[in-house]
Amino acid sequence: MLRLDGATVRFGKRAVLDDVDLEVADHEIVCVLGPSGSGKSTLLRVVAGLQAADAGRVLLDGRDQRGVPVHRRGVGLMFQDHQLFPQRDVGGNVAFGLRMRGEAKAEQARRVGELLDMVGLPGAGRRAISTLSGGEQQRVALARALAPEPKLLMLDEPLGQLDRGLRERLVVELRQLFGRLGTTVLAVTHDQGEAFALADRVVVMREGRIAQTGTPLEVWQRPASEFVARFLGFDN
Ligand code: ATP
Ligand code: MG
Repeated sequence: MLRLDGATVRFGKRAVLDDVDLEVADHEIVCVLGPSGSGKSTLLRVVAGLQAADAGRVLLDGRDQRGVPVHRRGVGLMFQDHQLFPQRDVGGNVAFGLRMRGEAKAEQARRVGELLDMVGLPGAGRRAISTLSGGEQQRVALARALAPEPKLLMLDEPLGQLDRGLRERLVVELRQLFGRLGTTVLAVTHDQGEAFALADRVVVMREGRIAQTGTPLEVWQRPASEFVARFLGFDN
């Protein structure tokens, strides 16, 4: 599905993404962990096409994505600074991705309702974005990203502003949903519990490089380095 081949991004002399090789298989859920500034968001931006790689390649289904704009990559995105459309109501935001697919009105309304139920905002379709709390806006952004059922979904701290109870419930539901839809997921999270509950595989980043990748259990039981062990230990 996704392959990064020596992907490198430099700002000035510093490589914030440094010769990264990564493969994500169809239907796999991969969570990216790592300290602040280690290059997690940059990795997602490069795959999405929001940031050009200075070296290396990004392949989606075997095709080199150089020069392919973000809306042609067939990937779903939800970023840390989830930018909702303030002039549209909640339903209008969620329906955005459906309209892009040319779905019929009644089907759109049904799907919007279903998605809002799923993220714990039933009946919120008519509300203005400005009346929502930060966490509620985050859930709307999540529903919007899920709406078009992209083959590859990239999430950057999707549940960051939510309280623990809601996060734990959503993680379970998301995992089921991704399984049902066959969605391939690349998600960044600070929360180890979330990564371990959601992911088939975790990627631990350090200073633009991959420090370790493996199943949550493998990484937890056999950290590949002092850095990984310390990161897992201190990040609770
Ligand atoms: P966080 O957990 O805080 O979100 P991150 O792992 O997502 O961190 P990135 O956003 O990928 O980190 O950034 C990696 C590094 O690249 C950071 O040191 C950041 O300051 C730097 N960086 C990112 N974008 C730019 C830019 N446009 N110009 C200069 N430096 C940048
Ligand atoms: Mg980030």
